[in-house]
Amino acid sequence: MELRAVKGMNDILPDEAVRWQRLEAAFREHVRLHGYDEVRTPILESTALFQRQIGETTDVVEKEMYSFERHGDALTVRPEGTAGAARAYVEHKVHTKEPVSRWYYLGPMFRGERPAKGRYRQFYQAGCEVYGDPGPLADAEMIDMIFSLLTTRLGIANIEVRLNSLGASGTRQRYAAALKQFFDPIKDKLSEDSQRRLDKNPLRILDSKAPRDREAAQAAPSILELLDETDSAHFAGVKKHLDALGVRYVVDPTLVRGLDYYTRTLFEFVTTTGELGAQSTVVGGGRYDNMVEGLGGPSVPAIGFAMGIERLLTLMPDASGREAPFCYVAPLSEPCASTALVLGRDLRRLGVRVEVDGRGGKLKAMLRRADALGAKVCAIVCEGELERGVVAIKNLAAHAQEEVPLADAARILAERAANPSGSGDARGTH
Ligand code: ATP
Ligand code: MG
Repeated sequence: MELRAVKGMNDILPDEAVRWQRLEAAFREHVRLHGYDEVRTPILESTALFQRQIGETTDVVEKEMYSFERHGDALTVRPEGTAGAARAYVEHKVHTKEPVSRWYYLGPMFRGERPAKGRYRQFYQAGCEVYGDPGPLADAEMIDMIFSLLTTRLGIANIEVRLNSLGASGTRQRYAAALKQFFDPIKDKLSEDSQRRLDKNPLRILDSKAPRDREAAQAAPSILELLDETDSAHFAGVKKHLDALGVRYVVDPTLVRGLDYYTRTLFEFVTTTGELGAQSTVVGGGRYDNMVEGLGGPSVPAIGFAMGIERLLTLMPDASGREAPFCYVAPLSEPCASTALVLGRDLRRLGVRVEVDGRGGKLKAMLRRADALGAKVCAIVCEGELERGVVAIKNLAAHAQEEVPLADAARILAERAANPSGSGDARGTH
């Protein structure tokens, strides 16, 4: 039997992992500048956590969760990061230690969806959560942070910000009633899922990807008309700050997003190039002011977002591939192997990326390997030269070779690695 990876779950081989690391490093550095610190929560949580926080009538809970029972506990492999982070926030009484917390996370999420480009069963999200700040300043700052990450830092063009406000929970209820009234007479035009959800959770119909639901929802009432005064003022504040920051956005009153926990500000970042098809949303987020309290904590407002790493990678301009070692160390015979190892270690201590060829064999094969890796120099360690206390350094681009004292080799090479175009290049003695 041929064993393969599970459907919808991908291997990320080293060639590709380089781009992942670049994106992850950019994300970490960017959010660090905004005051966020990392939180790591378990991949497994109680099934009840997601059922209650994400909502029973959402796609995620109804169809997509990997849930199972073990040792009498009902467990779910996390489909998203917000519920687990909020659970941890409450469990550790973080609000008693600081009034505002800014957390970020990065890791795999699991949803049993039908795989497509940009839609997988194991996928990665990077996300942020802010607890204890009611906004609207925090909302605008978060949207601006994501916008500059995607555009300036990652170089992604054609990104549109969509913005909406769901109001507080009272507004949601009034809106649900208005939607029910609107959809009831055209019920048979809706998909089966939406017909079923019409009574329990009509907002979900707006989030449906089924073409017939989209069609039917076109003339649906706007939630913005139902916002009360404080919600309207909050939304106006978000827009004012975004204008001041120069972030362009489109207000989309039908934007509801797939998870039930959102209140007030809701946003998503969409690519307008069409290359991701139905997977065009790359970032989704919003405020969820009731979750902390709903988990048994105090009344602490919160806002967060998650971005899909795979989708962003598709949009990121292609940067170069794997990092080349600066130096390749080639010991020509067994007695030189220890010296080669020591040279490699000394270079790494000086911060230089090095590979030592441990295969033995011919110099030609080693040089070929050094070239294939893209190394700049090859240190050739051979017995005759060691007796004279020197090693040969071959500059692979210039095809030039010189000898340097073994005792100084690491220092000299490290200086060249730090200053590649400097004067220290090998002056050939061929
Ligand atoms: P979609 O509408 O595409 O199903 P969603 O509303 O379910 O997305 P969220 O739960 O808000 O998405 O997750 C935030 C982001 O995580 C999405 O915008 C997307 O970039 C990414 N994402 C969600 N589900 C998947 C998946 N199955 N595969 C890859 N990325 C995903
Ligand atoms: Mg989804």
